[in-house]
Amino acid sequence: MKAMSSNPIEYFRPRRRSDIAKKPLDIDPNITFNFGGRPFSSRYNSFYHELRPLEAAKDIFFSNLFMRSLKGQTDFSVIGELGFGTGLNFALACNYWKKRNDCDARLHYVAIEPYPLEAHQVDKFLSGFSELDAERRELISGYPKPHVGFHRVWSKDNKIALTLAVGPVEEVLAEVEAEVGLWFLNGFPLRINPEMWSQTVCLELARLSKPDAYLISVRDDKEIQHRLAMQGFQMEKRDSLCGKLRVLEGKFIGKSEVRYLAPWFRPPPPVQSQGTIGVIGAGIAGCAMAEALARRGKRTLLFDQQEDVAQRASGIEAGLIAPELGLNASNMNRFYDRAYRMALSSIEDSEIEWNSRGVIEFFQKDEARRRVQHMKDGASLWHGAAQLMSPSESSSQIGIKVSSHGIWFPHGGALNPKRYAQYMSQKAESFLGATVHDITYRDDGWWLYDYSGQRIATVDTLVIAAAQQSNFFKPISFLPLSSLLGQISFIPKNENSHKLKASIINNGYLMPSIDGFHVLGSTYSRDGFEENQWPQPVTIERHKQNYDNLDWELKSLFSGYQFDQWLGYSAIRSATPDRLPVVGPVPEAKKFKRDFARLSHGPTGKFPSGVAYQPNLFVLAGFGSRGIMTSALSAEVLTSQMLGEPWPIERTVATALSPSRFLARGIQNSLLKKI
Ligand SMILES: Cc1cc2nc3c(=O)[nH]c(=O)nc-3n(C[C@H](O)[C@H](O)[C@H](O)COP(=O)(O)OP(=O)(O)OC[C@H]3O[C@@H](n4cnc5c(N)ncnc54)[C@H](O)[C@@H]3O)c2cc1C
Repeated sequence: MKAMSSNPIEYFRPRRRSDIAKKPLDIDPNITFNFGGRPFSSRYNSFYHELRPLEAAKDIFFSNLFMRSLKGQTDFSVIGELGFGTGLNFALACNYWKKRNDCDARLHYVAIEPYPLEAHQVDKFLSGFSELDAERRELISGYPKPHVGFHRVWSKDNKIALTLAVGPVEEVLAEVEAEVGLWFLNGFPLRINPEMWSQTVCLELARLSKPDAYLISVRDDKEIQHRLAMQGFQMEKRDSLCGKLRVLEGKFIGKSEVRYLAPWFRPPPPVQSQGTIGVIGAGIAGCAMAEALARRGKRTLLFDQQEDVAQRASGIEAGLIAPELGLNASNMNRFYDRAYRMALSSIEDSEIEWNSRGVIEFFQKDEARRRVQHMKDGASLWHGAAQLMSPSESSSQIGIKVSSHGIWFPHGGALNPKRYAQYMSQKAESFLGATVHDITYRDDGWWLYDYSGQRIATVDTLVIAAAQQSNFFKPISFLPLSSLLGQISFIPKNENSHKLKASIINNGYLMPSIDGFHVLGSTYSRDGFEENQWPQPVTIERHKQNYDNLDWELKSLFSGYQFDQWLGYSAIRSATPDRLPVVGPVPEAKKFKRDFARLSHGPTGKFPSGVAYQPNLFVLAGFGSRGIMTSALSAEVLTSQMLGEPWPIERTVATALSPSRFLARGIQNSLLKKI
């Protein structure tokens, strides 16, 4: 007899993804300020605020309903806003939130904005309200530079997270995964801004609303009320500002049947907020996880077999942080783009020093132009993030003469991963020199054992961040993690090379000298090494490969080199077949295969509504050659899924990282081997 899934069966049809980056995409709100400092959008031919802005915002959005919506919240609350605009509501929400007594709770503020203002415009507008001075300064210090996609910024005290999603409203909203308790609808009027109030948008609001979520709309049109009512919002008109304005207020009493998240990607219920969380592996990934959990005040135990953090792949002398200018909006390109931004802000928060700043990538002239144009058309990086350089401009940027065209990334750079990892792990309780040999789940949580079978620790929730060694642990042995050996070479600086000021990427990469050496990297080998050996030997053959990857001009910097005198560092990267990391809850592989066998007929049909997961078990591995850059975002994604918080990136990007993807693909390709 076939065992049935414990989850109820439902019919699922995947949402058709329309490409978010229809080109060219214009996200400029076209703002000017009048003499009184009121921002005017010539895109909408309207002022942003019709009446006295602060007084109106307080009266409309921060009245009884706001206070009521926060009652009974413990760990975190979620406010959603359509139309972030000048950031006034966000600044006010921060102000009110800080005045609350139960200051351990977090506020997630998820705002959608198709036409974001620049930081200086927000600054100019908000500086008119002295009572919001602190909030303005904090918002401006982390305000994302306008470009398409999701941006997450945390307040300095880690109590408030802004997730600003930029792009066409319907598309962006459809990518949000969150349970919103209070909505602020704050767009320009329906007649001039129909996209903001469409039926599809109202449907999305219902999809993302918690039961009994509150909603406040600055527009009171009958049509808007009708559209909201159709989706289950019971709305009433209310006079605001002594009758000068009428707004809509109400509650979500309906039930949305719309779920875009495929059943095989739906995360388990949030873990208990009070429990301890163990992380196996104190490389950059495990340390980033410790940091994301510490932000939320979670007690984290960090285990590593090495005597210090960041010893294996993360022990490289220097890692490059640079974007990938992909030519389409694939999940991989979007992931690397979001990861680049988050790495930059995470490194800035850490206040660790970069080894050097600025990265240039050499391209053929036409290719460089094509990539920068593509980036501009899709607004996929912010203004100034990637600049086209002629050979002479390239030369003056990097300090040495080159004859290549390139793309200059002024914000990227090279940094020491170990210092970064040390910073991120500082709030965790570290157990170094502790090899976790086995794990089992018992009534009181996950038990961790050493080689002799002695229990090392018991934790409520466990994250495996042990790179390619992760799938030695039986519950995740189904993951297709492979090992890729890499070697970087350290070349002594000389009178020509020491002028190099910024990192260069061509086939490999070359970094400016630090402590007398340049880092040159890096090799990729799938075989010819012993996987379980540590440390990995540094070979002359691989120095030679690194050198051969340089183009002739860069080679000429190091004439008279002697490979046998070069030093280096070798380590294993854990890689996946699709070059994306594995980030998420761990499914029970056998049950998954049985429950979702129907996937072999395609992703539409009747499926169990959720996955049978290993209890409180998560994985963060497979970072390949970009883990220094992508760990902070990946840890933020995992923590959000673990705790039931709004996701920091698009749903389709986050699910592209899910451990379940390999099982689902295996079934779809009918290639899944017997587990
Ligand atoms: C030569 C080279 C150059 C690179 N250059 C760059 C770059 O320029 N930019 C970039 O972004 N990335 C770069 N990378 C990739 C990056 O270094 C990795 O993606 C990243 O370090 C992976 O981090 P991790 O924490 O997953 O793995 P690791 O750093 O390998 O950490 C895994 C940890 O798990 C521990 N562990 C494993 N099993 C157990 C167990 N049973 N019990 C306890 N502990 C255990 C290990 O001791 C280890 O400390 C490079 C990698 C290499 C090798």
